Amino acid sequence: MTNEGASEPTGSLMDDLYREIILDHYRAPRNRGDIESPTCSADGSNPLCGDQVHVAVDLTDDRIESIRFSGEGCSISQASTSMMTEHVLGLDGLSTRMAIKQFQSLMLNGEPPENSKLGDSEALAGVAKFPARVKCALLGWKTLEQALDREHNAPVTTDERERQDG
Ligand code: ZN
Repeated sequence: MTNEGASEPTGSLMDDLYREIILDHYRAPRNRGDIESPTCSADGSNPLCGDQVHVAVDLTDDRIESIRFSGEGCSISQASTSMMTEHVLGLDGLSTRMAIKQFQSLMLNGEPPENSKLGDSEALAGVAKFPARVKCALLGWKTLEQALDREHNAPVTTDERERQDG
């Protein structure tokens, strides 16, 4: 933190702090790479922004033993995917799906749901104000969800329209 002598409003300071967390994940992504023979994997893209991610997961006894991602795109999409991998590593399937739902709720409401512990991902709360960027932030999480769906042999839709929540 620097002391510039200027009286910054608290809100702006918080924004700076959040931006730092996001940039840190963008510049030094966690769990970047690939897994040679993953239990499941999926590719996701956000054509509106040009974001692409590949997520590979190794499951052991329904637990995320290892997770790696690769991709390219804007800082929000890549930082969010990095945060996602860090957050779900070691979680079981149910907890992972709950985390995905909690993050979706964060993107919908701009604040984390009660009792959620989304860690660094909460730094993305401000993105909720920008619907176009919400798609960037959700990309990695939705791609993970798709990878997990494949694990259970659920059909993977190639329809660009999003599945209805229900
Ligand atoms: Zn993007």
